[in-house]
Amino acid sequence: MQGEGPSAGMPAHFLRLQGCDVGCHWCDTKYTWESSGGRELALADAFAALRALGDAPLLVVTGGEPLTHPGVERLLAAAVGQWPRVEVETSGVSPPPFEHERLHFVWSPKLPSVTPRWAETWSHAARFMSDPRTQVKIVVSAGDQDDVLRLVREHALPPERVALMPEGLTDAVVRERALALAELCMREGFRLSPRLHVWLWGAKRGV
Ligand code: SF4
Repeated sequence: MQGEGPSAGMPAHFLRLQGCDVGCHWCDTKYTWESSGGRELALADAFAALRALGDAPLLVVTGGEPLTHPGVERLLAAAVGQWPRVEVETSGVSPPPFEHERLHFVWSPKLPSVTPRWAETWSHAARFMSDPRTQVKIVVSAGDQDDVLRLVREHALPPERVALMPEGLTDAVVRERALALAELCMREGFRLSPRLHVWLWGAKRGV
């Protein structure tokens, strides 16, 4: 099940691509950072393994940072032929490879408190936003709210396409931060993204 962002609550298949050098200090998937980790699979075998889990209307391609993965363009071109909706979770350090009516980018640019490479994650803002299907998901920790407002305004992001998501790995922390973010969302017209997987299962891998 997709736990966050625009399709939160939707049954989904997940394809996690190995490798990321963006370096977010709170990253909850640090096991994906090394490009040598994971299992090497042919595309057809990966899709078959997902289908064997049951049907789902959504394929989430995530990482790591999927857009820096060699072969991601071929993967996405094949995926849109097989799933009604394909979502790519990306930091935005690389631009979107192409547009397609079934392909939705969930662009999650980073704030200055998160990584020294934060500015690179905003560098393709215009490319991402020119595709009307792209939604923005910004992960927010305590003390980040001024940077959120500044960067959203600098890049002229429409508030209705922006969701703020509380950072945290326990339900108590997510809830506390969500309460603070709810005030900001109601005032500025942003959406508030849940973290359903944390609520349901906690910081567990493979859910
Ligand atoms: S971009 Fe994503 S996978 Fe990479 S370090 Fe940041 S949170 Fe982790």
